[in-house]
Amino acid sequence: MKKREFQRCTNCVMDTTDSAITFDEKGVCDFCNDYYKNILPKWHVDEKSKAELLEIAKKIRKAGRKGKYDCIIGMSGGVDSSYLCYIAKEVMGLRPLLYSSDTGWNLKIADDNIRKIAQGLNLDLVTEQVDWEEMKDLQLAFFKSQVPYQDLPQDHAIFAGLYNYAVKHKIRYVLTGANNATECIRPPVEWVYQNDLKFILDVHKRFGKRKLKNFPKCSMLRYRLIYPYFYGMKRVAPLNYVEYDKEKAKAFLQERFGWETYDNKHYENIFTRFYEGYYLPRKFGYDKRKCYLSNLILTGAVTRDEALRELEKQPYDEATMQADKAYIAEKLGIGTEEFDAIMSGENKTFRDYRNSYNFIRFCTKILRAAGKEKKMFR
Ligand SMILES: [Zn+2]
Repeated sequence: MKKREFQRCTNCVMDTTDSAITFDEKGVCDFCNDYYKNILPKWHVDEKSKAELLEIAKKIRKAGRKGKYDCIIGMSGGVDSSYLCYIAKEVMGLRPLLYSSDTGWNLKIADDNIRKIAQGLNLDLVTEQVDWEEMKDLQLAFFKSQVPYQDLPQDHAIFAGLYNYAVKHKIRYVLTGANNATECIRPPVEWVYQNDLKFILDVHKRFGKRKLKNFPKCSMLRYRLIYPYFYGMKRVAPLNYVEYDKEKAKAFLQERFGWETYDNKHYENIFTRFYEGYYLPRKFGYDKRKCYLSNLILTGAVTRDEALRELEKQPYDEATMQADKAYIAEKLGIGTEEFDAIMSGENKTFRDYRNSYNFIRFCTKILRAAGKEKKMFR
């Protein structure tokens, strides 16, 4: 990879650890320019957007009037999906089924949150257990492959499980907690690769040991084309239509449901915490907090100085990192020594394996041109 001189955006905190980042003459990065040019002008949260959301809710209720549920929500216990459950039930007047996936790594605090929200809103919850032996085999294969994206096996299991469940049970609407307020900067592809089944299966073929019989699978083709166009599946992101201030949402959930907060965005899960807080920054120099904080800068929730101060701190404390490492290595059936050998091995990317990158990029470009996808994909 070509070496560049270190440069940080003068507006947000993204920098050249994203090797594809570009800067304009004022030193402002392409994420920021994309946000001001393509996302912000089309993003209005006001009475009109709320009315639009209620119109969508009407459609969802009508389409699902014969079923027990009119939509499904993938529930992680985090603030986005928890707040979404409340919006769906009490603002949109829907009858959602909550879907949660147990990949083997959930923290108790997340499981408790899921249960509290389901009970507090009187909603049904279905939890699918991912076959642990297969999950373990795939995750170990991923570590051996030396790629950055160690969360893909979990992400894929959760995402594929949810969409496959919805189609199987004829629930047409999938509500997602995706939102511009905290997610309009998509981490660069070299940090967090896409949900690409072809790539996942190739890594597994080379380094896995057992067959992935029960592991949930959903290819991009199925998700992008077959599900929406042949099964009529629709995705709706309600949090983009209402005022969504994460801190206020947390306080509300705490007060109303006894929901509990935890550090950082995806830290409801031990594996994700370790992957984002230790593996990714130490092996590759990628710090996902930069995307998250840059987002908050763009939406005015924090200042650039506050974000820079935050980045000077460790993602989480060293003792917990070491404990997580030992726990994860043991759970995957390897010792910490073998794990350290993986950490110091030669870094690879998705390009070292079979992948659908070009197909995904092509689809995203079309969706963006059609106004159905906002986030930038280089
Ligand atoms: Zn920027």
